[in-house]
Amino acid sequence: MNEFSYRNGHLHAESVALADIAREVGTPVYVYSAAAIEANYRRFADALSDMQASICYALKANSNLAVIRLLAELGAGADVVSEGELRRALAAGIPAEKIVFSGVGKTETEMAFALDVGIGQFNVESDPELDILSAIATNKGQTANIAIRVNPDVDALTHKKISTGRRENKFGIDISSAEDVFARAALLPGLQVRSIAVHIGSQLISLDPFAAAFTAVAGLVQRLRAAGIEIDHLDLGGGLGIVYRAEEAPDMASYAAVVRESVGNLGCKLTFEPGRAIVGRGGILLSSVIYRKESDTRKWLVVDAGMNDLIRPSLYEAFHAIRPVNEAASGGTHAVFDVVGPICETGDTFALDRELPVLGPKDLLAFDSAGAYGAVMASNYNSRPIVPEVLVRDDKWSVVRRRQTYDEMLAQDDIPAWL
Ligand SMILES: *Cc1c(COP(=O)(O)O)cnc(C)c1O
Repeated sequence: MNEFSYRNGHLHAESVALADIAREVGTPVYVYSAAAIEANYRRFADALSDMQASICYALKANSNLAVIRLLAELGAGADVVSEGELRRALAAGIPAEKIVFSGVGKTETEMAFALDVGIGQFNVESDPELDILSAIATNKGQTANIAIRVNPDVDALTHKKISTGRRENKFGIDISSAEDVFARAALLPGLQVRSIAVHIGSQLISLDPFAAAFTAVAGLVQRLRAAGIEIDHLDLGGGLGIVYRAEEAPDMASYAAVVRESVGNLGCKLTFEPGRAIVGRGGILLSSVIYRKESDTRKWLVVDAGMNDLIRPSLYEAFHAIRPVNEAASGGTHAVFDVVGPICETGDTFALDRELPVLGPKDLLAFDSAGAYGAVMASNYNSRPIVPEVLVRDDKWSVVRRRQTYDEMLAQDDIPAWL
């Protein structure tokens, strides 16, 4: 996290002191580095530049309009999983033809909207979805470009809640019966079948599952071609893991080598849908200590961020490194703390038994690698306003989502006149 490092003893985002942001915006607040996100995107794109690759950034990792705009300017397309995300991608300036629509539960309204705006591709995940999309497209006198997402029954070796490529997972169609589905799709009106899609999970640390999945897809391409069904595109999904702790995240060159070896000789154009790998290490969550609390057996740092602001630790037992914003604290005494939020849930715990400097009320701390699946999962639980987001570039910074006010939060509810 070079873009989040200490300068003169103070943790900065690029050239902006996090303490300055905290003073003006308050905490908790997400802070993103444009340079970090750009560097991650370039690293991904450069590694695949010798293959005919397009990169459709998976919006669900971080769908702030400013973040999407930043990536749009670098040439990214988008992978969206809802009409809301599709609207965000368009609003941020991503051309419709560079947008892929994934997801197991697209509604008719969503599909019709996507066709109306001229979306580039649908990644179809089931037999019934094929029929519905065919009917809607035919009705509109249009042809929908589709990929069929297959489930290769490969264990992604990641957390079970973000594993998507096993036969028992809800995603895609079983690769073993895929030829029948492709053959049927080829006969349906309003559909142009051109691609096989695969996405086996998120935060993959080993490249072996990618190799297994991509090799299975290559086999299917050969079988389909033998059956007279031409496939000239492949959508290889996202899922590349990042460093949260001490895990060895796969490097881009090795990932690209796996792609080249498994599908490089098929003459297919490739689409990738990275989310976490682009934005995960491009953001931190800045929070303040409210209380330091002790019992006979434990010590707690109660902070002002809660699981409603960053749910990854309680949802996936995820690890986020925690650093004091004031570096001098690291030189002082340390103790072992549980770092917890203010929410009335035991699951509202960011870290257990974490050795940290002995911080006190109002001290600032940063949760590292919080740029992906952080702010997008924020909620109003415990009636806490949705957390704000800040984007930094060099010495400039802007609030790119302001903190929700209490009035805005309450205004969403209505009390019926009959009550
Ligand atoms: C979530 C998702 C992605 C992005 O996954 P990352 O692990 O963030 O790279 C890509 N494609 C699909 C279909 C997804 O559901």
